[in-house]
Amino acid sequence: MADQNTTHFGYREVPAKEKESHVAKVFDSVASKYDIMNDLMSLGIHRLWKRFTIDKSGVRTGHAVLDIAGGTGDLAKKFARIVGPSGRVVLADINASMLEVGRDRLTNEGFGGQVEFVQANAEALPFPDNTFDCITIAFGLRNVTNKDTALADMARVLKPGGRLLVLEFSKPENPLLTKAYDTYSFTALPVMGQLVANDSESYRYLAESIRMHPDQETLKGMMEEAGLSLCQYYNLTGGIVALHTGIKA
Ligand code: SAM
Repeated sequence: MADQNTTHFGYREVPAKEKESHVAKVFDSVASKYDIMNDLMSLGIHRLWKRFTIDKSGVRTGHAVLDIAGGTGDLAKKFARIVGPSGRVVLADINASMLEVGRDRLTNEGFGGQVEFVQANAEALPFPDNTFDCITIAFGLRNVTNKDTALADMARVLKPGGRLLVLEFSKPENPLLTKAYDTYSFTALPVMGQLVANDSESYRYLAESIRMHPDQETLKGMMEEAGLSLCQYYNLTGGIVALHTGIKA
């Protein structure tokens, strides 16, 4: 069990102050192959999970939206379409390599001018209190060292009435599904990672970090602790992924 000075990096217990640099190495290594690996590993299903997130966001024309750990910009691009020129979309990510891939991609697809790119740690968001109507973090919270600190900071920068959506791997509901999913994660993922991104270790970390991440009820409790109201979650694909939502009162 990790104490206050240590934390988990996958199955390894590491000094808490070192986790950030381990995570940085993972995303520096996979950035250029991130999008293709996402499609391959999930058979494209991550697009449906993200679509569901957008549908539950309640984002409308003119809204201000922050996508934390936004990476290559899947959500930011969709939000830019919805909020239009009177709105604001900020894609924040701690990792310069992921931000660069995201910025190039969104610029090529015609969204470059509509999205602000900010290098920032989810634990110390460089925004004033009460700034955003909606905040999303998709497949990012798992990688954050101090998740409670990050959730509290997200609550801080949300406007009253604003919504936080956390899309993350979670705990499958059915034990049979768990078994098949474990086999897939610990055998196929590292092999795919090796073949496509020349990096099996990062995809082993992916599988391990998913198992170490808080389950649905635990994360819901953490969001409540961070001061959010009406917290609830939706299991997607049998709970392999869950979308948690909460409102700032
Ligand atoms: N949200 C994107 C998506 O769903 O495709 C990217 C998800 S990717 C698995 C995780 C992202 O989290 C990476 O881009 C990584 O750099 C970012 N990240 C990791 N730790 C972070 C932190 N402490 N603060 C902000 N971003 C972080």
